[in-house]
Amino acid sequence: MIKLAIVGVGKIVRDQHLPSIHNTQLFEVTATASRNAQLDDVPGYADIESMLAGQETIDAVALCMPPQYRFEAACAAIDHGCHVLLEKPPGATLNEVNHLIKRAAAKGVSLYATWHSRHAPAVAHCKQLLSKSNITSAELTWIEDVRKWHPGQAWIWQAGGLGVFDPGINGLSILSEVLSDDLLITESKLETPSNKQTPIAAHLNILATSGFNVDTKMDWRVPAGAENTECWQMSFETDQGKVALVEGGSVCLINDQIVFQDKDASRYVEYEAIYREFADLIKTNKSSVDLVPLQLVADSFMLGNVTLTEPFEV
Ligand code: NAP
Repeated sequence: MIKLAIVGVGKIVRDQHLPSIHNTQLFEVTATASRNAQLDDVPGYADIESMLAGQETIDAVALCMPPQYRFEAACAAIDHGCHVLLEKPPGATLNEVNHLIKRAAAKGVSLYATWHSRHAPAVAHCKQLLSKSNITSAELTWIEDVRKWHPGQAWIWQAGGLGVFDPGINGLSILSEVLSDDLLITESKLETPSNKQTPIAAHLNILATSGFNVDTKMDWRVPAGAENTECWQMSFETDQGKVALVEGGSVCLINDQIVFQDKDASRYVEYEAIYREFADLIKTNKSSVDLVPLQLVADSFMLGNVTLTEPFEV
């Protein structure tokens, strides 16, 4: 078993990492570093430096804190000779992750930038369908209620927290996985609450280099009573019909008929795949860092035409 330390014990660690680590039986959690949280029967430290200086054996570290606070922790873990798993997005900037790639290579450890949505059950099936199709246009729609999914998370509204791109980058990670095109942001309209630093909504045009556009909408505003408008989906008009991937990549349809749905998939399917891949990378002494989803977000900010909207109050 690979001895794993977890840094930043919060929502996603409890919801997904811990059950997935338990189910896959490839890693043993030997320590945590978190300012306010600890796991039963696991030595807990307040910060990564004291954890790495402690007595426990640590082969690998999963960095699960918000992206703005990940870089220094990643450097410390790499310098200590640990393999590193980065929650999505892999960092607050592109160049800090580029530096981590070099730093991990120089130290001979594995660096893994995770994109959990790419492991959703129907993504591979959709990719295969699209590889045999000519696409003429596409849409990506990622709408969720920020109050429901991100209660009390101040960091998502602060610089580097990505705002609506925090969930939206999951859609972009799937889009860039199922298409073989290069993807270029050609238009970006961002709506940002006047009391926040990150957008609450984004409307993008993405040009796929084989010559079609992806009309992309992300929104965190779901009025009370309109919960059924939440959706995490994309669709592609093709010469084979309309191919759609809905429910965050769980179900694939052609012309509104389900063609792939893994009803037996565990609710931890995405993170179980992540931990299997991390173990494989460590075993084979490889790294896996795809920056395309983060580049798309960065380009959306670079081209962003920003409209200030009403203040957001929880
Ligand atoms: P979270 O619960 O708000 O934060 C995780 C933990 O990070 C916190 O409990 C906190 O632990 C630590 N932390 C918070 N602010 C910090 C700071 N300023 N410095 C150092 N540590 C800090 O967030 P989360 O929802 O788990 O998300 C964490 C990451 O996972 C994000 O990158 C997010 O995009 C990704 N993710 C989240 C979800 C989801 O559904 N929530 C899904 C997939 C991926 P201590 O206070 O104990 O230090």
